[in-house]
Amino acid sequence: MLDFRNKLLFATLDGMFGTIFGKKTPISHREIKLFNSESGKLEVFQPLSEPHVTMYSCGPTVYDYVHIGNLRSYVFPDILKRVFIRNGYLVKHTINFTDFGHLSDDGDAGEDKMMKGLKREDLPITLAGMKQLGDIYIKAFVDDMDELRIMPPTTWARASDYVGKQVSLIKALDDKGFIYETSDGAYFDISKFPTYGRLGKINIQKLQEGARVEVNSEKKHPADFAVWKKGELGWPSRFGTGFPGWHIECSAMALETLGKQIDVHTGGVDNMPTHHNGEIAQSESLTGKKFVQYWMHGEHLRIDNTKIAKSAGNSITMRHLRDRGFSGEDYRYWLLTAHYRSPINFSWDALKAAKQALYRLKRHMYEEFKQRSNVPDTAYMEKFDACLANDLDTPGAIAVLWEMMKDPKLEEKTKCGTLMAMDEILDIGLSEDPSEGRRLLGVVGQQELSHEIQELIDKREAARISRNWAEADFLREAIARKGYTIEDSPQGPKITKNS
Ligand code: AMP
Ligand code: ZN
Repeated sequence: MLDFRNKLLFATLDGMFGTIFGKKTPISHREIKLFNSESGKLEVFQPLSEPHVTMYSCGPTVYDYVHIGNLRSYVFPDILKRVFIRNGYLVKHTINFTDFGHLSDDGDAGEDKMMKGLKREDLPITLAGMKQLGDIYIKAFVDDMDELRIMPPTTWARASDYVGKQVSLIKALDDKGFIYETSDGAYFDISKFPTYGRLGKINIQKLQEGARVEVNSEKKHPADFAVWKKGELGWPSRFGTGFPGWHIECSAMALETLGKQIDVHTGGVDNMPTHHNGEIAQSESLTGKKFVQYWMHGEHLRIDNTKIAKSAGNSITMRHLRDRGFSGEDYRYWLLTAHYRSPINFSWDALKAAKQALYRLKRHMYEEFKQRSNVPDTAYMEKFDACLANDLDTPGAIAVLWEMMKDPKLEEKTKCGTLMAMDEILDIGLSEDPSEGRRLLGVVGQQELSHEIQELIDKREAARISRNWAEADFLREAIARKGYTIEDSPQGPKITKNS
């Protein structure tokens, strides 16, 4: 039987190829409202070409491990995608890898991040070296995404595989008079695109007044941005050897993989002012069509209320979470308890509380439900889905989940079925086969315990029954030292193996 992740994958593929199961299923979907950063309003979602939905998510610059903040920016598009699919849409989704040309400043200043990575890892400063660096961190990123149970996109687009397209777009922009050449590259002339800065309502006038003159005296306007950076390393173009700019990469990959107009484009809030306004200006100047219908931006994750930065020594990666015993599901669950448009502050205590709550849910799912079913309660599912259709209100949806769990009137097997249906969207590890679920929880069956541990457990049970608490505590500690946790339950002692 296909699990939901596979079903979703098929639905995504279906989005790619039209239909794969022979006939089109008639579409029935609830009204989905999304906050569009461009209008600054909640809008009813209407795709350009129903039942198809195209989505583009700006991917990471693959010069280092991504931090847990970066990963937050891929969890909300994952929820969005699942909500679309649940509502009958066929989704085609692209996530890119930026493997050249992103400077440490989102504008045209600072060090090239890939160069920084090459130097750090003592790799040759060549295109082959960059490819090697990219390979390492692309793999690490895809592994992190998998650990967070984020569905793979229809297309992973690697910027260096689309250089030809970028060069041809730059040529077309030049032919249409949108760009000008300087000694260090070629720049998009924002005065030729009157609505430049409309995303996030950037005050262009103010930008000009506040500009630092020394940055690049050849730029006609401080907001003009590089479409080509000249250099010794790179690819050939009409402006000589060099790299395409960061923004043209995304325009090229979006246009090439999804078409001239796309439904949804996502990214973190930091992408909005420069990168996304750049993408709009280039793409719309080329096609004459509105590039993106719904712009969606996720708020940042902060640590100790400070921006995450290697230089601040507070960059936490998935490996750090794993080292402290947290799984991708724990982190995913914690992220989903906040709305994607709310800034959140990471703390180990908050993550620990989320882990415990999720553990309680899993215990219910794999141990306490004696009767199982996959039939959900329609009323609770309606409330849950309504939250998600309201601009991905995951905290609201999780509140409905706990309300359902605490409902004394609901049968155990219905709770089980409802949790499973909710997990199709949340994907927090509630849909395992019960024996696998128990194994993952570390619940140990009596037959799996060594004779020595079983003896300690029996002695402790005897001490407990005879109310000899000191002896019972002593034995509990002895069992803990052997790597097991003992808990008392109405069915007798429960043993879990410590991770
Ligand atoms: P980058 O590799 O810098 O292009 O970042 C990859 C993605 O992570 C982009 O969508 C950024 O907007 C996003 N991002 C960067 N920092 C954070 C953060 N602290 N919280 C959430 N998303 C972030
Ligand atoms: Zn991008």
